[in-house]
Amino acid sequence: MKTKLLRILRETKEYVSGQQLCECFGVSRTAVWKMIGQLKEEGYEIEAVKNRGYRIVNTPDVMSSQEILSRLHSEWMGHKCIHLTSIDSTNNYARKIAEEGALAGTLVVADEQTAGKGRRGRSWETPDHVNIMMTLLLRPRIHPGPAPRMTLLMAMAAAQSIRAETGLEAFIKWPNDVVLNGKKVCGILTEMSAEVDYINYVVVGIGINVNQESFPGELARTAGSLYLALGKKISRAALAVRIVERFEKLYETFVKTEDLRELYEEYNGMCINCGRQVQVREPGNVYTGTTDGINEKGELIVRREDGETVCIYAGEVSVRGLYGYV
Ligand code: ATP
Repeated sequence: MKTKLLRILRETKEYVSGQQLCECFGVSRTAVWKMIGQLKEEGYEIEAVKNRGYRIVNTPDVMSSQEILSRLHSEWMGHKCIHLTSIDSTNNYARKIAEEGALAGTLVVADEQTAGKGRRGRSWETPDHVNIMMTLLLRPRIHPGPAPRMTLLMAMAAAQSIRAETGLEAFIKWPNDVVLNGKKVCGILTEMSAEVDYINYVVVGIGINVNQESFPGELARTAGSLYLALGKKISRAALAVRIVERFEKLYETFVKTEDLRELYEEYNGMCINCGRQVQVREPGNVYTGTTDGINEKGELIVRREDGETVCIYAGEVSVRGLYGYV
């Protein structure tokens, strides 16, 4: 009920009368007043004006499921939202509930991650309550081979949503980082459980440095946040919801063909590596070249200095700029 109340308050520009709310929920004025009181205790600023009603004036920066669901306008993704105060990793949690039969589209969000994961066993480090840590659980009826391309879809959804929410020019660093002013603000980790020709589930996790004010040690060289780029804090829930809504659209397009034929040009339009020199770091092999972006399979097409053109698959590879992170 609180989710619905929040949605009504948020979506009504004018005051919502107590009477309207009583009718909408089929409860007494006292019950409405109590619910409003609970929201106020949770940090919502709600103005109550006699003979006019209630109006929401300020929303706390929380990632509760009621905050997320009251903003969400997706078709199906995120309709089940699990908010955790603390967890080792949202991907681990999503995998666990996937094994137990959780529905496709389930969204897991956390306030605190004690063992956030990056690719290849690396770690994702984030302070509590200021950033986004979330994972979507999916069960696509596609071949397992193309599933890792969903990482690229999430990078697109994140970059587009950051642009829409902040007006800043976020770019994608192939395959899965989002960068702002040359600093990494987002990491994505896709994990899968599959048989040879059947996917049990895929979890796509994303960490975004939203309102983080500074970074410790080594990380300060490469990491940035939306706050540091924008100079003001934004609502994590608003951004998270936008990402889910956008990802849903990209996902629906992707699963039709299992490749990126309808999406790769859009991806390349936001890919910071396009038209630049890159250093490709494969296990045991480092070389440089130039790239104009990805192909339909999501591979980065690189013209090596020796003249050969190669298509690189994301799995074990990192790319860097010649003189820095991008
Ligand atoms: P790259 O392409 O930059 O090598 P990756 O895709 O292999 O990165 P990820 O899995 O996205 O790496 O993220 C893990 C790495 O990101 C860590 O090794 C660390 O260097 C860096 N990192 C960890 N936490 C953060 C953070 N909050 N913000 C930015 N970077 C981070």
